[in-house]
Amino acid sequence: MTDKTFPKVTVLGTGVLGSQIAYQTKIRGFDVTAYDINAEALAKARTRFVGLAKIYQQEVKGADTANTEAAATGIQLTDDLAVAADADLIIEAVPEILAVKRDIYTKLATLAPERTVFATNSSTLLPSDLVDATGRGDRFLALHFANRIWQFNTAEIMGTPQTDPKVFQRVVEFAKQIGMVPIELHKEKAGYVLNSLLVPFLNSGMALAAGGYAEPAAIDATWRIATGSPSGPFQILDVVGLTTPYNIAKNGDAAHQKLAEWLKTNYIDKGKLGRASGEGFYKYND
Ligand code: NAD
Repeated sequence: MTDKTFPKVTVLGTGVLGSQIAYQTKIRGFDVTAYDINAEALAKARTRFVGLAKIYQQEVKGADTANTEAAATGIQLTDDLAVAADADLIIEAVPEILAVKRDIYTKLATLAPERTVFATNSSTLLPSDLVDATGRGDRFLALHFANRIWQFNTAEIMGTPQTDPKVFQRVVEFAKQIGMVPIELHKEKAGYVLNSLLVPFLNSGMALAAGGYAEPAAIDATWRIATGSPSGPFQILDVVGLTTPYNIAKNGDAAHQKLAEWLKTNYIDKGKLGRASGEGFYKYND
């Protein structure tokens, strides 16, 4: 293997995405430390890593019991942010709250050495919203992963006007080294590439069903058969879970708020939250 772009990686936040990023980076041979706020969160993190080991054994080609278990136990855990002093790359996956993110970057700005590059996994904030808190605009950018990173392995990379192009390219290389397909954005865009395509697509599907034009199953069938795609909008919505699109739509304009209301009355209030709850637009037996 070529030299590791960032030998020592620290991941901040070990929730849904942070745990996956830490685990994927570790299994690809990097030295990984994961940070979270307290002992309880760290205990949960270790449980998540053990769960990921099982998932990789079942779903990832070439993953065996030995290497998946070694990755689960090999990630160092800490609740001391001073760990930043030893990191070449810090990937931040803390809650999607501007004040929380800005606070952590302000602390990192003094704790991390010159060489350290900071990357945010934020889905809805732009790196420009955070850059002044980092104290290192040239070494800061967004590196955005998708949920179920081992399967949906895009890494969207998006800088601010201040990001050094060499740093950007090193992060592109890093993404490849951990098994991602890097998607390079030339300038900032809310929603990156994926959500810029997906959100309007899902909203269009919902508008057709909510407007009484066709049933969800018919809309999905149209999309699958006519385009060769494996899933239609409602199949995707069931996997995402209905709460996330509801929260997005509820904060939109009048048309989006109508969609939110439709989702709430017909599905969410009836406990139909998507695949994870056993029922959404479809029923699931697993
Ligand atoms: P999550 O709520 O599952 O996890 C957040 C973690 O951060 C928790 O472990 C929490 O204990 C920890 N945390 C809380 N406050 C903290 C602090 N001050 N410092 C450090 N850690 C703290 O959230 P998530 O879904 O993993 O999302 C994290 C980030 O990843 C967000 O920016 C989100 O937009 C992004 N993201 C999420 C998804 C997704 O599908 N969930 C996909 C792509 C990107």
